[in-house]
Amino acid sequence: MATVDSVIDKYELVVGMEVHAQVLTRSKMFCSCATDYAGAPPNTRVCPVCLGLPGPLPVINRQAVEATILTGLALNATVAETAVFARKNYTYPDLPKGYQISQFEFPQCEHGWLEIEQDDGSSRRIGIRRVHLEEDTGRTVHEGSYSYVDLNRAGVPLMEIVSEAHIHSPEDAYRYLTKLRTILRYLGVNSGDMEKGALRCEPNISVRTLEQKNRGEYGAKVEVKNLNSFRAVRSAIDYEMKRQIETLEAGGTVEQVNMGWDEQNQRTVLQRSKEDSHDYRYFPEPDLPPVHVNQAWVEALREQLPELPDAKQARYVDDWQVRRTDAAILIDEGLVADFFEGAVAAYGMEEGKPQRLANWLTGEFFRLLYADGEGQDLRQIAETRVAPAQVAALLQLADDKVINQNTAKKVLEIMYATGEDPAAIVEREGLAMVSDTSVIDEAIDAILAANQDELTRYRGGEEKLFGFFMGQVMRATKGKADPAAARQRLQERLDE
Ligand SMILES: [Zn+2]
Repeated sequence: MATVDSVIDKYELVVGMEVHAQVLTRSKMFCSCATDYAGAPPNTRVCPVCLGLPGPLPVINRQAVEATILTGLALNATVAETAVFARKNYTYPDLPKGYQISQFEFPQCEHGWLEIEQDDGSSRRIGIRRVHLEEDTGRTVHEGSYSYVDLNRAGVPLMEIVSEAHIHSPEDAYRYLTKLRTILRYLGVNSGDMEKGALRCEPNISVRTLEQKNRGEYGAKVEVKNLNSFRAVRSAIDYEMKRQIETLEAGGTVEQVNMGWDEQNQRTVLQRSKEDSHDYRYFPEPDLPPVHVNQAWVEALREQLPELPDAKQARYVDDWQVRRTDAAILIDEGLVADFFEGAVAAYGMEEGKPQRLANWLTGEFFRLLYADGEGQDLRQIAETRVAPAQVAALLQLADDKVINQNTAKKVLEIMYATGEDPAAIVEREGLAMVSDTSVIDEAIDAILAANQDELTRYRGGEEKLFGFFMGQVMRATKGKADPAAARQRLQERLDE
């Protein structure tokens, strides 16, 4: 799309994001059926309420309401004094009642925002229009020429978080989603697992010329569905933006449609034209009372808010002098942040120490984590055999010059595999650093004697041979020599 790149500056990308997040509750939104449907035999987590049978009445899940209010508070939103559930009427095989209960005119929370960090370290605020509560639908499973309906998921509490159309680049969409997921996980209200369908996002994508922008006009919106990773969202937005610009540049018009994402071919594909009517004939759910939320309830929930990612990052940077980029990596997963803080508590907060820990965690430790288990899920850190205090003890051994840096890496690998204490490993494997200059001198003597040619060349001015000698010394001491001591002694002997 070379032609697009040349005209891209004439347009502004406008994206709004709808995120559906399953709320982590034990029971469903309006009945006592369990939400642990993953892997359960079809239609075993159902009752007359979520099957939509006539007679029984729904009851609001208080925990789901509280999770939604907590989310609203974390997203700087206003909590409504009165939220109202409504019926959203449409027919679909996996919707047994023929309507979905959702909040429409009176959502639980409105007018929030979150901040995303730009490459230069500055932040941008993305508005959040609303956070409301609804129920999930069942699932239709297609097999051969048959379609089956599994209603285990029907009625699972679902939060919908709708952003303002404040996103203007694929990268910002990615940052927005990443930040939102981190916040939801910190709150413990959602697992963030996109591959399991617990978090789903649908971007509304449009482009407009700068003249349209000045007139306050928008282009036709294309909604992309079935995106199963944040990376796919970013790619889909980038693709759609270019497709729409290309269409407009060729004199065409962008249709308001729903698209799907073809991961294989990295392109959007037409799903179906958006229902023109878009008329769900919403009306207040007659079987449920409005949700009244008084100030005391809100304040009690506010007390429960954990330290949120932005505050945590600022604390690492301001109090512990951790580099901003490293702090951003550490706070991304709450479990990683917990591990880091546990290690800092054991290691100490003196100047440079938290940063040294950050280097080890994001470097060597993450490398081991990634090589282990499935995928790149850093939440695995909570299941490793290594305790935070053991990482602190390892670094302390290096600080105390009991082991050198290379040995420390080796010890960490053994710790990771066995869960042993670093001191025990050093003792058993005889890895303690050799700082005893007589041992180092002995090794140097033998090396100089065995490499007379190189010695003559070095003394004749070929100084780069220093590295050769240094390598020999480290090898002779099995990598355990104190590098600083070895370097100094070697230099003295070579310059004699
Ligand atoms: Zn049920």
